[in-house]
Parts: sequence; structure tokens; C-alpha cells
Amino acid sequence: MNIRASARIEAMSAFALADLGGHDVPTLAQNESAFPPSPHAIAAGQEAAARSPLYPDPDWTVLRNTLAAAYNVDRDLILCGNGSMDLIACTIRAFAHEGGEVLATSYAYNFAAAATAQAGAIFVKAAETDFVVSIDNMLAAVTPATRVAFLCNPGNPTGTRIANSEILRLRAALRPDILLIVDQAYGEFDEQDPRSIFDLVGEGNTVVLRTLSKAYGLAGARIGWGLFPPPVAAQVRKLQNSNNVTVVSLAMAVAALEDRDYMRLTVTRTAAIRDRFADRLRAAGYNVVPSSTNFVLIRFGDVEAVRLAEQALRQEGIIMRNVGGYGLADCLRATIGPESVMENALRILAALPGRR
Ligand code: PMP
Repeated sequence: MNIRASARIEAMSAFALADLGGHDVPTLAQNESAFPPSPHAIAAGQEAAARSPLYPDPDWTVLRNTLAAAYNVDRDLILCGNGSMDLIACTIRAFAHEGGEVLATSYAYNFAAAATAQAGAIFVKAAETDFVVSIDNMLAAVTPATRVAFLCNPGNPTGTRIANSEILRLRAALRPDILLIVDQAYGEFDEQDPRSIFDLVGEGNTVVLRTLSKAYGLAGARIGWGLFPPPVAAQVRKLQNSNNVTVVSLAMAVAALEDRDYMRLTVTRTAAIRDRFADRLRAAGYNVVPSSTNFVLIRFGDVEAVRLAEQALRQEGIIMRNVGGYGLADCLRATIGPESVMENALRILAALPGRR
């Protein structure tokens, strides 16, 4: 038997998640929340489990209404996803065009590259400057084949962010027939007011994506959402599975969004642990990229130092994300976990040879 996938699928590599070494424990490798979700979300999920015999609402009605109220946006622009990965994949697959180009940046979230390969399109990376997105470099990399521009702000795995005014400048200078996707998975960790970015959606050629996986501590529930111009949404929905957010996840999301003070506390506490961890790592001689997210990128300078650090950390059950796949083989990305875990990580890293 010679069962073959299409040449395009056989040629593409699978999206590489973190190597957790078979551990089923919280790690510092996947940018999961240091804190559990709101207790109201957990209670709502437990209660909703009894409704599992029924399919979930395919139009996410209550969730959309709740998101619209929480973020002061138009409910009719909202699509929900099985995580924001669902929305990234469906949007890129719908709009990249076979043979077309998806413009991103050096360290753009790799999943966008996987979605581009699924679409049979070409992923083009504009150079970042010192781990920060350069709008000038993006604009210089536009070609007649560019169909989609994909921008993460704040970025993963860098953790850096650009000013929203820069995104407005990008949109204004891009050809109007290029769909701009602004991925704001870590948007709640960015103190900038998102209003001007949300408003871009009204122009008809920009999509803004968000998730409850990070600041709301609901990565396991898989809830993403985004703002889509209605004609764009109509195409994306053709590629989405219907009933893509479970009954339990819908209930958890609504309850989490009704408890935004809890989310804000999570963000404040996470940022405090992050800043303390980064400062102390710097004091121990490390180069840590400034972060507007729930993780930091640590620059070790060389691959051997990364290998030694990974080995020492894993011996004590701590796994950080190897970002060699992003061309950052001399760095590790450390998700900010609970204070005690970060203390431990700091102690291990500060004791490595070559550090003072
Ligand atoms: N975008 C970025 C930049 C991310 O880092 C992630 C998760 N690591 C996602 C999107 C996807 O998140 P989810 O599917 O959990 O919403």
C-alpha cells in the first residue's frame, strides 16, 4: 500500500512543541500561567460539565457578549477559537494563497510558519533589531506576492513589544490588499491601551487575536478570540470546525472574563516575579531581554552554555524552552512560574561555571 498525503503536507515539518522529556508537571517551557484561573472559572467549569451531553453553542453567543463588554468591542466582529492557534491557522490558510507570501519577522511565533506551510505559501522573515520588531524592515520586505502580514505584539519568544503607533504606521503603509494579523496573545501584559489596534479592524483588512491561555490561566481550556472584519470572518469560519469551544470551556471563559480583577492581579504578580527574576539574573552576569510578557528570553552567549544550563535545570525538574528552532540556539526562554520555582531556577543558573 502506498497511501500518500499531498506533496505539500509530506514536505512540511510538524509544529515543534517544547520537549518536556516526558514530564507531566508544570514547566517553565510553555508560557503557561504562574497562577491558576479564577476560582469562579473553575466552579463554572465544574457546573457546566453536567451539560456535556449537548453540543456547545456554535456561535459562542454568551462568550462573545461577555468579551464585547469586557473589552468594549463590537460583538459582531468576534470569532472564537480552540485556542488562538485555531484562529491563526484558519486565517492564514484562508488568506495566504498557494504560492503567496506571509510576511513575518525573525522571531515571529513559529506556529504561523506551520500554518503558512499548510497553505502552500511562503513564510518570509523581516529582520528584527536587537530582538525588537522593525516596521521599516517589514515594509522593505513586502513584495507583490505578499498576501498576509503577521505580527506578534508583544512577541514570542523575545518578550519585547513595539509601540502601538508603530503598528498603525505599518497598517497605513501596507498595501490595502494585504491582510494584517496582529497577534496579541500577551496583550494583557502590555500596559498600552489596545483601543487604537482594535479600531484598525474597522478598516476591513486587519485581524486582532487574543487568548485566555496566558493572563487568564486557561491554556488547558483552549479559548482564543479575535476581532475580524465580517467579510474576513466569513471566510475563516469556513475552515473552522464547528462547535470548536467546549461547553466546559465556554463556561470557564465567561466566568473568567467576569472576574477581570483576578486576571489583573495575576498580571501584576507575574510581572513582579518576572522583574525580580530578570534583575537578579542580570546581577549574576546574564543578559536578559526586557519583557512585556509572562516569560523572559535569557541570552547565554553560546550553545554550550545553554546545554550546561539545560542539563543543570533538568536535574532539578525545571525545563525551560530551547529556542534553537527560532535561530536562537544561544538562548533559553523562561516562562515565569511560581516564586519558589523561579528562586530555584535562579540559584541553579547563578551557580553555573563562568558566572560570577
Ligand atoms: N500566539 C502567541 C504569540 C503565543 O505565544 C501562543 C502560545 N504560546 C499562541 C498564539 C497560541 O496560544 P493559544 O492557542 O493557547 O491561544
